[in-house]
Amino acid sequence: MKRLAVARLWHEGNSFSPALTRLSEFRQREWVEGKAARAFYDGTATEIGATVEFAGRAKDWQVTWLRCAGAPPGGPLPPEDYAEIRDDILRGLAARHWDAVYLSLHGALVTTADPAPELDLLAAIRRTIGATPLAVSFDLHANLGAAHLAFIDMAAGYKTYPHTDMRETAAHMLDLLVATVEGRCRPRGAIAKLEAILPSFNMRTTDGPMAEVAALAREWRTRPGVLDASLFGGFAYGDSPHAGASALVHTDDDAALAQRIADELIAALAERRDRFHVALPSPEEGLDQALSEGPGMIALLDPADNPLSGGIADTPGLFRALVDRRPAVPTVFAAFADPDCVAAAHEAGVGAVLDRTLGGRLTADFGAPVPVAAKVLRLTDGRFRNSGPMEAGLPVALGRTAVLEIVGIQTIVTESCQTPNDPAYFALHGIDLAATRLLCVKAKNHFRAAFAPLCRRIIDVAAPGPAAVDLTHLPFRFAPRRLHPLSA
Ligand SMILES: [Zn+2]
Repeated sequence: MKRLAVARLWHEGNSFSPALTRLSEFRQREWVEGKAARAFYDGTATEIGATVEFAGRAKDWQVTWLRCAGAPPGGPLPPEDYAEIRDDILRGLAARHWDAVYLSLHGALVTTADPAPELDLLAAIRRTIGATPLAVSFDLHANLGAAHLAFIDMAAGYKTYPHTDMRETAAHMLDLLVATVEGRCRPRGAIAKLEAILPSFNMRTTDGPMAEVAALAREWRTRPGVLDASLFGGFAYGDSPHAGASALVHTDDDAALAQRIADELIAALAERRDRFHVALPSPEEGLDQALSEGPGMIALLDPADNPLSGGIADTPGLFRALVDRRPAVPTVFAAFADPDCVAAAHEAGVGAVLDRTLGGRLTADFGAPVPVAAKVLRLTDGRFRNSGPMEAGLPVALGRTAVLEIVGIQTIVTESCQTPNDPAYFALHGIDLAATRLLCVKAKNHFRAAFAPLCRRIIDVAAPGPAAVDLTHLPFRFAPRRLHPLSA
């Protein structure tokens, strides 16, 4: 019986967010090990879901789940919170000999002390496991460099954005690990970097410049001897020495071929660089466009405060425009993260009217708080299971939540900061999407996986926020200044 160790530390850190990400946010979302991990991820379309499937089918392998920790994207971690997760993983790895190790990382983790702590983690893991084969999967938004590759036997990223192939990415790594342990292949990796930070706004793999280069990578993956070719758009709001897009290619024992393919993919990305930069309408212009559309649901997205880019669910720009306009059509706003407001709503009860402010709670940098008279419509425990295509089946806990009516707008307020990108999120809140005309959401591309088929049109608007589409105003400290657009 061969032994596989599995561990996970998944977090995308926005270096420009004022809200630190604490261990409590991991504990609330994904914080399991051993048999509890197997039960938690069983049947889910996630990386660790793939390891559960593997444990069921690979009869000559025994799988052990060490610490598996994941939190929604957010601000940097305090160093001691990161160290607790790292040390959990290292303790598990040091406890015995393993034949192979699989690690699920994001690739854009940051702490307040270290702009690239995953390098520290990988180095420590390598010291602990010696020459044991190590496979790692990353998010498509990983900020990677050659330094990461030095510690890894094989690695791959998601091929889709919205990310709907987390399970497949991990399954591919597990198959390659087994082939390596059995001596059927010798993975050789190479990385190439783009001299640019790309905003993720126009990075979908369904259409546009990233889709074109993704098609080239897909073509390369069908060639003999090519084990994997992954494109990483990078995470623009992760201020790291390894910022910028990259291509990571693994071949069977042919390092020169891997490098040639990686270079070719980056050249293709470089040709398309400027198409990643787009200009968006203001919230007011977006509202004009939405209200002039024909029947059906129109989504208005505020990507600058998208929690899945490290947004804080607190910027007031789009909400203020809505309140000023008072749209005379069924309108939903999702969401503000405001634990005090949720507590006040639960205490006052359904039907009560609260005088409060919403937005601008953590910082006034992105606009002042909006005063509201809010009638409590509904209260929930914030628990549901994803029903859309992304992380399907995964349980979600928002903390307690409330639906407030503010000048006719059904406004969702939650205790934790998470993006509304699954239909079950709205079902939990008693929102009838079929009867909704304006769906205003702090979200970006992942939203489209479930909602593109439900919306007549999706309009992104530009409002101030920690994940603003214009990168040149952000205070980068660690990303190399030669990278476009910082160099511009
Ligand atoms: Zn991502």
